[in-house]
Amino acid sequence: MPTTDHPAPKDIRRRGLMLVLSSPSGAGKTTISRRLLDRDAGITMSVSVTTRPMRPGEQPGVDYDFIDMPEFERKAEAGELLEYARVFGNCYGTPKNRVEEALGAGRDVLFDIDWQGTQQLAENARTDLVSVFILPPSGEELERRLHSRAQDSAEVIAQRMAKASDEISHWAEYDYVIVNHDIEESVASVQAILRAERLKRTRQVGLQKFVQAVQAAL
Ligand code: 5GP
Repeated sequence: MPTTDHPAPKDIRRRGLMLVLSSPSGAGKTTISRRLLDRDAGITMSVSVTTRPMRPGEQPGVDYDFIDMPEFERKAEAGELLEYARVFGNCYGTPKNRVEEALGAGRDVLFDIDWQGTQQLAENARTDLVSVFILPPSGEELERRLHSRAQDSAEVIAQRMAKASDEISHWAEYDYVIVNHDIEESVASVQAILRAERLKRTRQVGLQKFVQAVQAAL
């Protein structure tokens, strides 16, 4: 049963945060994200738009909204994307509407985006952003995990290996870094980060009113 890990008193209004998880493909980010979403009802996944073809097992509207290039370009030009980037020759972007609505309503949003998108969020929305980089336990383990994925062709795997070191080179731009030795431990670490970040004074926008009410009773 998922619970809302929301330690602030119910009547203190809080602004939502954007929790970004980035990593090279195969470092365990998708599994960590799924377990976090299962366990915490206070955070929802941002569904990106992408021009890449749908993979077997993926669901439109759940994994991504799959759109064509002209539609992607239209959205980017119309300012409908919070950030966007080209990854492995395909375009990916985060639709703005749902994210802004969630943050304003005090709900947190989880993003599975790359370093390029994270940089854009850091420039445009630093105070709402909490960024976490997931590292694999070793280069050998990352290679093994990439080879054990059935969905992708040898060419795609080779591409991802080449891209992995580029992605990893951005680790120091993130607020937190987790080495994924053990999935459960990594999920617990992300939950601990989320719990602490939710308690940040600046996110508890209703604090002043609450404190005034406490003082008035004294
Ligand atoms: P995949 O094609 O394997 O689902 O994702 C490839 C890469 O694109 C991953 O590193 C993922 O984090 C990144 N990605 C997915 N959605 C977005 C997005 O909306 N924006 C950015 N910048 N990167 C994304």
